Amino acid sequence: MTTLEIRDLQVSVETDTEHKEILRGVDLTINSGETHAIMGPNGSGKSTLAYAIAGHPKYTVTGGTITLDGEDVLAMGVDDRAHAGLFLAMQYPVEVPGVTVSNFLRTAKTSIDGEAPKLRTWVKDMKGAMEALRMDASFAERNVNEGFSGGEKKRHEILQMELLQPKIAVLDETDSGLDVDALKIVAEGVNRVKEATGLGVMLITHYTRILRYIQPDRVHVFINGRVAESGGPELADRLEAEGYDRYQTAPAV
Ligand code: ADP
Ligand code: MG
Ligand code: MG
Repeated sequence: MTTLEIRDLQVSVETDTEHKEILRGVDLTINSGETHAIMGPNGSGKSTLAYAIAGHPKYTVTGGTITLDGEDVLAMGVDDRAHAGLFLAMQYPVEVPGVTVSNFLRTAKTSIDGEAPKLRTWVKDMKGAMEALRMDASFAERNVNEGFSGGEKKRHEILQMELLQPKIAVLDETDSGLDVDALKIVAEGVNRVKEATGLGVMLITHYTRILRYIQPDRVHVFINGRVAESGGPELADRLEAEGYDRYQTAPAV
């Protein structure tokens, strides 16, 4: 059993002109086997939370803690976070020129396990995972993210997750830009990994649509860099019906 614990997390972003405070005290606990949906309007800080967990250099943690089974995640380098069992799609480069999907995944797997996977098992695992995600075999020989469609990027994300077998996965807007068929395939992939390995999932999404296919245990509403409300799956239904308006406070006079 693994626990990702976020306590009073405060994060700022540095731009050329300003130091902007974005997360203002976030508390979240995600255990193995649990799916937590993080929902909220655009600009509420959802991606900032994902970047902070990933260790993106642009996002400065100014307060609070992130631990994985008590280990200080914030003290870990980006690679160590993956070794510890965190899966953060955005930590991988947008494009990896000249590196095929197949080589990229094998290198990542070797790095995470500390030894190269047996070739025969690896080829079989990769083929199986690709078939399950209904990806053509030729996809393995394409260069990572080069000319990938939105749907291909998302499937590649889930393929990585299936093969790397993390303990906790942070999926930021995995549903965006997917048609309903691709959405179902991606959701099935997440559910498969959950069932097989007891993965804990932080599912960041603006829309409730994906929650029809991936049942969340908890739903957290992000407003202005904080969790404004937490609840069970019924909270997502309420958001679907009512939107985020009731959380928006009147502007200060
Ligand atoms: P969400 O994912 O909920 O849409 P974000 O975390 O992307 O929200 O953004 C939260 C706020 O932080 C927004 O006001 C956004 O403009 C700002 N922000 C996020 N990243 C950066 C950045 N790299 N540079 C400047 N501002 C940023
Ligand atoms: Mg956004
Ligand atoms: Mg975002």
